[in-house]
Amino acid sequence: MSLIKGETGDWEIVLGLEVHAQVISDAKLFSGAPTAFGADPNTQVSLVDAAMPGMLPVINAHCVEQAVRTGLGLNARINLRSVFDRKNYFYADLPQGYQISQYKDPIVGEGEIEIDLEGGKSRTVGIERLHLEQDAGKSLHDQHPSQTYVDLNRSGVALMEIVSKPDMRSADEAAAYLTKLRSIVRYLGTCDGNMDEGSMRCDVNVSVRKLGGSLGTRCEIKNVNSIRFVKQAIEYEARRQVEVIEGGGTIVQETRLFDPGRGETRSLRSKEDAHDYRYFPDPDLLPLILKPEFVEGIKASLPELPDAKKARFVKEYGLTPYDAGVLVAERDTAEFFETVAKGRDAKEAVKLVTGDFFAMLNRRGATIGQSPISALHLGKLLDLQADGTISGRIAKDLFVAMEETGKDPAVLVEERGLKQVTDTGAIEAAIKAVIDGNPDKVAAYKAKPTMFGWFVGQVMKATGGKANPKVVNETLRKLLDG
Ligand code: MN
Repeated sequence: MSLIKGETGDWEIVLGLEVHAQVISDAKLFSGAPTAFGADPNTQVSLVDAAMPGMLPVINAHCVEQAVRTGLGLNARINLRSVFDRKNYFYADLPQGYQISQYKDPIVGEGEIEIDLEGGKSRTVGIERLHLEQDAGKSLHDQHPSQTYVDLNRSGVALMEIVSKPDMRSADEAAAYLTKLRSIVRYLGTCDGNMDEGSMRCDVNVSVRKLGGSLGTRCEIKNVNSIRFVKQAIEYEARRQVEVIEGGGTIVQETRLFDPGRGETRSLRSKEDAHDYRYFPDPDLLPLILKPEFVEGIKASLPELPDAKKARFVKEYGLTPYDAGVLVAERDTAEFFETVAKGRDAKEAVKLVTGDFFAMLNRRGATIGQSPISALHLGKLLDLQADGTISGRIAKDLFVAMEETGKDPAVLVEERGLKQVTDTGAIEAAIKAVIDGNPDKVAAYKAKPTMFGWFVGQVMKATGGKANPKVVNETLRKLLDG
């Protein structure tokens, strides 16, 4: 919880989020038109999506399955009977004049999400509901000086509207909620979570109240499209509301827009109530009835989700909750780590993956799927170190060579002659050469034993970093002190 210090004491922020998550599906919710992102305007529009007279919607079973899968991933109740309603409003990019949505009987009821907070703490946030609905088209205001164009590619695309309970108390908690929700839908494969492509959009309901007081009037900030902006919008809006109330004013329930350029919210329209939309069951669609076996089948096919995986990583690999949390945030990353760690020293694996490997991806701006180093090869690198084939110093060079060539580290060790020298004879010869060539340093060492490190450095340099450090240390002591 974060408090706002006001003139009249401390204020608490109350937040609820409505997330529109685009369903991963090749076809739209009620038509067979494709849904690929970035297609030319109006190339993915069926007669249903354009609301031509006489067209009838036909439910896409895959989208229903995706909604149920998401509901199960949110530990939510699945409603075996749900109803599609018409939400009536006029807009130029809504050719039907209504949106097919779900109102009183959504497909998914109450559930919950565990959010991860700073310092390893976590909290439960309630889910109110999840319903299926159509997306609208898009108005393009910037293509012509005096006209607005309409692109209907998005018209009819399946969305899941996921509504939280007003359980969050700070911008950080809202960010943690969105992060976790995105992680879950990505694990489930039900939404790609790409906020910058608009496939996850967030409406934020913000109100403030005196500590322990009754709920204040809320404002809804529409369509915020990044987690950073969600945080900024909440912080601005909560402060604005406190200032209005403390200045003797009252909060008017309204819809507001966040302007990322100015970092502030501004009024868009006074808030309409549900009854303004004249919801009624869509006469073209029967109630949606699910068989319990259908739901059970989906439940049986759910992947291990982030929370369960995190707990398992802590237990199985002895990771800290923090490291485990970083590794399970994305499914690809978790799988990559497990391939590297399986049957190996997990602490070394986590150090390598979250250290040099993540740094390499960052430097290249690459995703894990684009990595030039495979999990298999990274694991082999650990093996080569563990069995003494290469030294820790050579491992660093080898990692760079693996990044450059994409080759198997064992092959690179052969090709480049990087094998660690453990042959005491060869090491001894290198040491003798250093000692014989530097009588002044030997004298200095006798007076000041900390000079020992200089000799180690010289021997490693002479052997190209390949000498086994333990053998070097032992032999040097013997020859210098003997
Ligand atoms: Mn909606």
